Amino acid sequence: MGVKFIGLEPCSSFGGEIPACPHGPMLLFERADGGRKAGRQFYACAACRDRKACAFFLWRDERLAPEKARQWRERVARATAAAPVADHRARFLRAEEILRLGGRYCVDCSQVLAGSEASLHSAHETRPVDPTLVRPSELLRPRSANSSEAQYLFSEATLAALLTLLNAAGARRVLCCGAPRLHERLQQQPGGPQSLMLDCDRRYEEFWPPEKLCVYNMFNHHMFCTHGWDVYREFVQRDGGEGLVVVIDPPFGGRLEALALTLQSITVTRDAAEGRPATSTLLPVFLILPYFNEPDVLRSLPALHMTDMRVEYENHHKYTSAAAGGRKHGSPVRLFTSLPAERVELPPPLYRRCPPCRRWVHVDNRHCPQCDRCTSKDGRPYQHCDLCERCVKITWRHCSGCGRCALPAHPCAAERPAALSRPRDSTTGQKRKRRK
Ligand SMILES: [Zn+2]
Ligand SMILES: [Zn+2]
Ligand SMILES: [Zn+2]
Ligand SMILES: [Zn+2]
Ligand SMILES: [Zn+2]
Ligand SMILES: [Zn+2]
Repeated sequence: MGVKFIGLEPCSSFGGEIPACPHGPMLLFERADGGRKAGRQFYACAACRDRKACAFFLWRDERLAPEKARQWRERVARATAAAPVADHRARFLRAEEILRLGGRYCVDCSQVLAGSEASLHSAHETRPVDPTLVRPSELLRPRSANSSEAQYLFSEATLAALLTLLNAAGARRVLCCGAPRLHERLQQQPGGPQSLMLDCDRRYEEFWPPEKLCVYNMFNHHMFCTHGWDVYREFVQRDGGEGLVVVIDPPFGGRLEALALTLQSITVTRDAAEGRPATSTLLPVFLILPYFNEPDVLRSLPALHMTDMRVEYENHHKYTSAAAGGRKHGSPVRLFTSLPAERVELPPPLYRRCPPCRRWVHVDNRHCPQCDRCTSKDGRPYQHCDLCERCVKITWRHCSGCGRCALPAHPCAAERPAALSRPRDSTTGQKRKRRK
């Protein structure tokens, strides 16, 4: 990757403070592309990957004149004050009052409409809102995939599996970071774990009061409203910090090193609960990301491991089950957790317990006696290659030219196309047949 994550670091141009953009403290990165600017460090927005969405940017070695720094701060303050949520509670109470009688929601303006306002939005897409509304996420238009705030909603099957796992983990309180569906469901279950939603999507402020929602950026642990800190701290430290689980469903492609810092900060807050003995263990985490992020997750969060649970979203064509029109091998999104694998009990008939692995795996994931584990990552059964001494994707063939398994159409090191079809890989071929 061309850019290395450094962290949240102070800056001399800002008097030793971390420079901020309207999305909170900025992250420090380093160019690592080997080009002319390699090694040069810069501050960039923690929320928006696209400079068009947030233009704040600063080279670390660039000296900002005091006047420039003052203007920078002013621009940030202006952008933050202009946000529609100056008063979260006022918006919530207003929407609650309207919705008590049943009202309409303008999807284009992302706003609950009073009866008298409806005519102003006659050209917009509006939806009726039931006074007993329990799933506001259904009203909002999902943000587009390219947006830093893109949000996908868990399917029913995924929600049910998560709830089972949370109960099994002894969760009493759940911090839902970017998981609005889960928050909604937990709010509907008075006997179950309590939940607090931490989310950067301000549209939810009309539906959840400040005690239930903090507008928050998970990549720099930033609260957009100062009262959020009190709500968050009380929630995390309740019951001496016991029974707290964090569920994070981040936008894919976000910086995992930054999320790791955030999880550390939450752990520190929890451990500061009164009467809690000091520990250094990460709090219980459920993190949701595609299987191919596994190496990144393990690098940044070595306390986590990947489970075989396929996480499905109802509003995404690829990240859903095959039955719902997704890819043939099911959703590529997985649940990562810090709970011991043995305690992550996944429901039949889709999952089974593998006794030698002592964990639950998808029924399509076969145990390889040579590797001594269930080896599939992407959802397809893998095959063992005796020459490589490991399991590989079923579409791969052993290439004698390269001395390893690869897709048949790979750019071959030996540049001998004949080597591809002439098997040294007869062993793997036989294995495949025997397994059928
Ligand atoms: Zn920003
Ligand atoms: Zn409108
Ligand atoms: Zn196994
Ligand atoms: Zn194997
Ligand atoms: Zn091989
Ligand atoms: Zn080759």
